[in-house]
Amino acid sequence: MWDKLESRLKQRQAQDLMRQRLTLESGQDTEVSIDSSHFINFSSNDYLGLANHPKLIESMVAASKQYGVGSGASHLVVGHSKEHHLLEEELAEFLGTERALLFSSGFMANYGVLTSLFDKKDLLIQDKLNHASLIDGGRASEAKMLRYGHNDLDSLRRQLKHKVESKIVVTDGVFSMDGDLAPLPEIVELAKESQSQLMVDDAHGFGVLGESGRGSLEHFGLAQSQADIYMATLGKSMGGYGAFVAGNNSLIESLIQFARSYIYTTAIPPAVAAVNRASLKLLQDDPELRLKLQHNIRYFKQLAADADLPLMPSDTAIQPLLVGKNDTAVQLSQGLRQRGILVVAIRPPTVPENSARLRITLTASHTKSHIEQLIEAIQAEIQVTQ
Ligand SMILES: *Cc1c(COP(=O)(O)O)cnc(C)c1O
Repeated sequence: MWDKLESRLKQRQAQDLMRQRLTLESGQDTEVSIDSSHFINFSSNDYLGLANHPKLIESMVAASKQYGVGSGASHLVVGHSKEHHLLEEELAEFLGTERALLFSSGFMANYGVLTSLFDKKDLLIQDKLNHASLIDGGRASEAKMLRYGHNDLDSLRRQLKHKVESKIVVTDGVFSMDGDLAPLPEIVELAKESQSQLMVDDAHGFGVLGESGRGSLEHFGLAQSQADIYMATLGKSMGGYGAFVAGNNSLIESLIQFARSYIYTTAIPPAVAAVNRASLKLLQDDPELRLKLQHNIRYFKQLAADADLPLMPSDTAIQPLLVGKNDTAVQLSQGLRQRGILVVAIRPPTVPENSARLRITLTASHTKSHIEQLIEAIQAEIQVTQ
């Protein structure tokens, strides 16, 4: 076993694919401290800048005084607190679904849905670039799984022709490494025509897209009910932790009864649920946060276009800069770091071969000056690596 592990590690190193962790000495914010140096952070999913919001910190302190720090058990034993319960009710009310169910993470939510609801008679049809948790959940599911070309409606149409008892189309709302949106109006139509169900993973859409932050369905003017299964996380735009699935009563009750990643795991701390409730409230009380994010995205795109940077087509907070080669992406990322800018390089297998990229993410808390410094640093570094 050890020889095999060593040789796999060496191989990964040789391909410039070694993953490394950065250790933050500060909170998650637009400026972070690593190894006693300061960086402007363009890699976080904290799109609304809530991870460090004073009101949310206050709510975490108050709730931990009331409920302590740990939940102490799984939801079905004795770990389900009033804070979890109210959060579920408020999420369902916000989205206009019958119910919502809190999971301990987005990975577990997707895995739980795909492994517990479907069997051999079902066919899962997934976008090729769906998040790893959807792909892994699909693989572990008893259902058959097919994948269609990324956002390729013809390819989806072909997969939908398969004659099976039931079909479920599964797509990210916003693709996490590309930042582009799924063409949901067309996908909804195709799913309907073929009597298929639809699951949307809106980890990067919930809270930021749509007039009121309800996510990618709202962005397209679609009713929430168009997604039979809607999933989103609470650790990205919401600044907290956890995830949820929303839909009708049969969906939620089935998950409670059968989803092993729901049943056999400790509930998130009640204080974290309280924080998630407070950020859901903030989201509704302060639409300004979303507007600020939109403004920053537009400003970044305008400066990037002026500088002829090879951005991928995206209007969301995820603005990847396509590089191609793994070593060049790593070099660029390291060069930017020397200039005080933190942008992580994303390489295969997270993205397809030869499409290594810098995954730039913008938040509502970035200032104009942050964005200007980013563009200047990228321009300077591109000249160095050429
Ligand atoms: C982050 C993410 C997840 C996983 O959510 P966690 O709460 O981090 O486990 C699932 N799907 C997508 C599209 C994501 O980006």
